[in-house]
Amino acid sequence: MKLKKTRKERKCYSCKSLINKGDLYGQKSIVLGEKVNGESETFDGMNTVVHYMRIPVSMCKTCLENK
Ligand SMILES: [Zn+2]
Repeated sequence: MKLKKTRKERKCYSCKSLINKGDLYGQKSIVLGEKVNGESETFDGMNTVVHYMRIPVSMCKTCLENK
């Protein structure tokens, strides 16, 4: 995971703490909707989960290091 310096204040997705301007943070993509919309669809004989979405979230340095 490569850390970047933020140019604006962000909130850590994991611990909800504030990432101050100039602090290091990392971006991670998480999957949304998988558990809520657990319906599956048959496509070409394969089961595909619908309403599957990936969104990028900001995480602070501490959370990224303590996996
Ligand atoms: Zn955090």
